[in-house]
Amino acid sequence: MASGFSIAALVERLSGVYGPRPWKRWGKPLNGLIATVLSQHTSDVNSHAAYRNLKRALSTWRQVMLAPPGKVERAIRCGGLARQKTRSIQAVLRAIQADRGTLSLDFLARKPLEKAREYLLALPGVGPKTAACVLMFNLGKPALPVDTHVHRLARRLSLISEQTSANEAHARLEALCPPKLIYPFHVLLIQHGRQVCRARQPRCDACVLADICPSARKVPLSGESQTDRSQSSEFRNSKEPRALARAVIGARATIGPRTRRRAGRHGDER
Ligand code: SF4
Repeated sequence: MASGFSIAALVERLSGVYGPRPWKRWGKPLNGLIATVLSQHTSDVNSHAAYRNLKRALSTWRQVMLAPPGKVERAIRCGGLARQKTRSIQAVLRAIQADRGTLSLDFLARKPLEKAREYLLALPGVGPKTAACVLMFNLGKPALPVDTHVHRLARRLSLISEQTSANEAHARLEALCPPKLIYPFHVLLIQHGRQVCRARQPRCDACVLADICPSARKVPLSGESQTDRSQSSEFRNSKEPRALARAVIGARATIGPRTRRRAGRHGDER
């Protein structure tokens, strides 16, 4: 590893600050997939409200799949991009129904990681980050979702090069990270990225990683590098929108009990 410290050491340090993060499963994989789609380009509060409204309006995924698009759109309107998300959700449900004859992704739990990832990536509109979210949060498999925080910190810590794109980072970071540490690595990096290693004006003076971080006190005041800007453009133009899964990942990673309760609802059975 270019950075010269181990992932285990990094996780241990961050766990010392934020507390241990034991691996947790967050409910059915299909629920997680739909919740992740609803989390695109909106806040935690709005995406969770959209999920709740959808459950109230249409109590099964079959009903969601068969409903007139307008009915789904009205239910999820508070989450924004209702028309686009309705198209995505109904297309995913139709694809699963056509392939499996039922609306469930539970079978993926019995598949090896790469086979399960392959299946998810073949679904309409599902990219590497969404697939990794479902694999890690809902199936307990060692896939690493790389959101904007994980991507930024991994570059600042020289775990990956500055030029590595978010999509490329999935495979590279997964190869670096011992499987059992993938979940704590992911959620701790997000928390650290939100609280200390922020995109703009990272708080290096208060950072527990400062003595091992090659970027300590070297990040420009704006905090946004050329690579950050090119990555933003890449996310906007990718199969997966930039904010994909941000809210779900964040909700599951943060420490507040209120946030955990909200995120847990996405794991409810339908
Ligand atoms: S030392 Fe600064 S740049 Fe490095 S991880 Fe900490 S806050 Fe981020």
